[in-house]
Amino acid sequence: MEIRRFFVDAVAIDGDRITLTGDEFLHMTKVLRYKVGYKAIVCANDGVENLCSIQEIAKDYAVLHIEERRVVDKKNVNITLYAGLLKNNKLDFVVQKSVELGVDRVVPFISDNTSETKFSKERAEKIALEAAKQCGSVYLSKVDDLKTFNQVLSDFNQYDQVLFAYEGEKTNSIKTSNLTGKNIALIVGSEGGFKPEEMLKAKDTGATIVTLGRRILRAETASIVLATLTLDKLGELDYE
Ligand code: SAH
Repeated sequence: MEIRRFFVDAVAIDGDRITLTGDEFLHMTKVLRYKVGYKAIVCANDGVENLCSIQEIAKDYAVLHIEERRVVDKKNVNITLYAGLLKNNKLDFVVQKSVELGVDRVVPFISDNTSETKFSKERAEKIALEAAKQCGSVYLSKVDDLKTFNQVLSDFNQYDQVLFAYEGEKTNSIKTSNLTGKNIALIVGSEGGFKPEEMLKAKDTGATIVTLGRRILRAETASIVLATLTLDKLGELDYE
């Protein structure tokens, strides 16, 4: 039987014991009907897979015993994707695919040309969790609440580098950019794209404006292409 993976916060691990609560507990015991003695892989976003067996199942928590710890993936960079909010739940696709690729955090935002207004963080978090489990990742990506474009700009100082995808850019690309630092933000607009003033503000605030090629990509394609090119350039798609 395939050993399934579950995600916990680091505080859930105490020596060789892990306490599973909340949705992951419900999924394990109510949906999958796991019993004492079953095996599970538990990850706490630190690159380690904890191979466990279930010791106890109580009403709202389970206790697992760690039998083996495997360091399987150490990340050298932290990538945050700021994605303009999209119509018809198309951000679901962006969340799912960027998690598969290894983006650490997705932040949806609204700018002048965004027409969608609704966003469910809870729904996006579920998609991120399922994607991480499905692709066998040891990392669980975060999803933030919806931000305004100005809030996105004020986040820039948290990053070593900000790469801003703009279809009007003709020269700078990921290929020609010198990527430095550990914390990198990627910015992609919604269906309506960015106004030139927004691009200029981003540039003034320190972003590197990049092209993703000669064709205008759909927003969801652009997010995946920017994430892929950046991760590849940083060597994050390589085996160690
Ligand atoms: N403003 C355009 C389309 C926006 S495409 C229009 O309405 O015609 C949505 C987003 O994808 C853009 O804001 C940009 O961030 C990104 N994007 C799409 N194609 C791109 C390209 N060739 N280079 C850089 N960014 C691109």
